[in-house]
Amino acid sequence: MHPETIEKIVGQAREIAATVVAAEAEAVDREAHWPEKSIHALLAAGLGGLMVPREHGGLGQGLFGLARVCEALGKECASTAICFGMHGVGTAVIAAKATPDQVERYLVPIGRGEHLTTLALSEPGSGVHFYLPQCQLRTVSPERFQLDGAKTFVTNGSHADSYVISTVAASGDATPGQMSCVMVPAGAPGIEWGGPWQGFGMRGNDSRQMALHAVPVPRGDLLGQEGDQTWYVFEVVTPNFLMAMAGTYLGVAGAALALATEHLSKRGYSHSGALLGQQPVVQHRLGSLWAELEKTRRLVYYAAEQGDAGGEEALQLLMSAKAEVADCAVKLTNEAMTLMGGIAYRENSKLTRLLREARAAHVMSPTTDLLRLWTGRALLGQPLLVD
Ligand SMILES: Cc1cc2nc3c(=O)[nH]c(=O)nc-3n(C[C@H](O)[C@H](O)[C@H](O)COP(=O)(O)OP(=O)(O)OC[C@H]3O[C@@H](n4cnc5c(N)ncnc54)[C@H](O)[C@@H]3O)c2cc1C
Repeated sequence: MHPETIEKIVGQAREIAATVVAAEAEAVDREAHWPEKSIHALLAAGLGGLMVPREHGGLGQGLFGLARVCEALGKECASTAICFGMHGVGTAVIAAKATPDQVERYLVPIGRGEHLTTLALSEPGSGVHFYLPQCQLRTVSPERFQLDGAKTFVTNGSHADSYVISTVAASGDATPGQMSCVMVPAGAPGIEWGGPWQGFGMRGNDSRQMALHAVPVPRGDLLGQEGDQTWYVFEVVTPNFLMAMAGTYLGVAGAALALATEHLSKRGYSHSGALLGQQPVVQHRLGSLWAELEKTRRLVYYAAEQGDAGGEEALQLLMSAKAEVADCAVKLTNEAMTLMGGIAYRENSKLTRLLREARAAHVMSPTTDLLRLWTGRALLGQPLLVD
């Protein structure tokens, strides 16, 4: 896509972030409510179709566009960024092998901003090993499957219109990574929601537990072919997941640095008349943090561009980018807290929220440990999934 078009989309996201998202963010965190106004503003502006191919009425973006939009949103509210990001990842998974019927029922309404989807991969039993689903998809008739199991941390929880759900391949004999993905519409019989999400951070996510009791799934809602989805894990799910998260936490890190910079320029002392930002040690620390953020941002953008272009080292770059962002976001929010002192530490400062949000970057799968492990295996030419 032409860079001007990407910048236009990012500009639109920034505008909504600076107005609607910024205004809602504090209440979303305090009350742990799903960011309804922000998500609706994004869909109304046409950004819901970010990952829908142009021929189906969308904006036809890829990994770079997803990372950039999530970064713009993450600066104001990481919950909004991840809720939007998981919609984008779910859309990319649907689009990867959509049948004409799935295009009509899912991609076209998503492109029009009338449909919110999300990704339900994680399970209580397999934790961070999202590529090892235990949910069972059984064939009950030539036209229909039945789905049983449990999902956990389903972002957008009960607010989505549909769920992209991973299961053990229906054909049986599945090896690790051989999963199927199916679409389940909201309100399908047999869905039971767990209690409300009360996270340490990311408090607007509505990342809830979802039990699936004999949920009927028409054959037409299988994404791709039965059990041929090994490639979904590393070709579609993981790259998009990584860039949605990398963009979000890059936004969090950038917001922390901006707050610290503003504070250092304004905080003055009555005993000396000097500004805090005039102290060489503080200037030195700020300079180091800026470089940390900028080199991480460059890695994320390059990884996304390589991913979109199908570059040879794209997977290592994408995996390392999310791991580096997690380190960067935790470091910058922590260091910003030290630079800004007790004024930032006190109750309800924006930085305390950013610090809590940043911690999620390490525990959202693929986690930093898994990503480093997989990158090492990729460099050694070893299979990534051996757990
Ligand atoms: C805010 C938030 C939003 C989320 N949104 C979604 C979503 O929309 N969709 C979705 O499907 N999931 C989502 N998740 C789930 C997330 O991706 C993880 O699956 C979940 O956080 C795992 O938690 P756990 O306690 O089960 O981890 P565990 O599996 O118990 O792991 C605990 C720790 O052990 C480490 N570990 C485990 N095995 C290994 C190993 N073999 N090698 C090295 N280290 C290992 C992990 O890296 C982790 O740090 C979300 C989670 C959070 C916190």
